[in-house]
Amino acid sequence: MSNIFVISAPSGAGKSTLINELLARDPTLVKSLSITTRPIREGEVDGFDYIFTTEAEFRNRLASGEFIEYANVHGNWYGTSRASLSQQISKGCDVLLEIDVQGAAVIRELFPESVSIFVLPPNKETLRIRLENRQTDSRDVIERRLKAASDEITRAGEYQYAIINDELYRCVGDLQAIIQAARIKVMKNSILETFGKI
Ligand code: 5GP
Repeated sequence: MSNIFVISAPSGAGKSTLINELLARDPTLVKSLSITTRPIREGEVDGFDYIFTTEAEFRNRLASGEFIEYANVHGNWYGTSRASLSQQISKGCDVLLEIDVQGAAVIRELFPESVSIFVLPPNKETLRIRLENRQTDSRDVIERRLKAASDEITRAGEYQYAIINDELYRCVGDLQAIIQAARIKVMKNSILETFGKI
């Protein structure tokens, strides 16, 4: 049986590095590929990091009911394809959705069994430094993202878990522990089914 893991974090919390490390360690976990209208950043690959598209195309996909959830984040549109998520689930994969607080609320509602995790930066200063060091966004965008970060952090309490990304490897360990716990829980249920009511 598949597990759905939702991870949210304000940009600059170090979520991508964390998730890449997690995926490298856990080949049974697959990441859902989102569709976005955000301009592609240097180093990103279309079809790997995101499916990059135009606003008109995004609207077409939206009108045809393609998205199980979608949101406007920092002025760009992002969405999760219903068909590809359902395909991953039907293959029995554990799926990781790296989506914002709005999308996470929708997924929690649709899949009450999903496990949600919020990744916090150690502090606001670290967040600013990480965003500036990335050198991929303009000052304007950085300021907008910092302001949005404060708003997003106020919603961390909606998640089942909140972890502080102060040290990469410890944090990946925390994520692995959460994932492992969810897998054991599912196994326990299937054991009870197998043995009938004990
Ligand atoms: P970035 O542009 O920095 O990659 O991501 C910006 C924000 O959009 C992040 O909070 C990320 O989690 C969120 N995001 C990425 N894909 C999706 C998606 O499919 N749905 C939603 N709701 N948010 C997404």
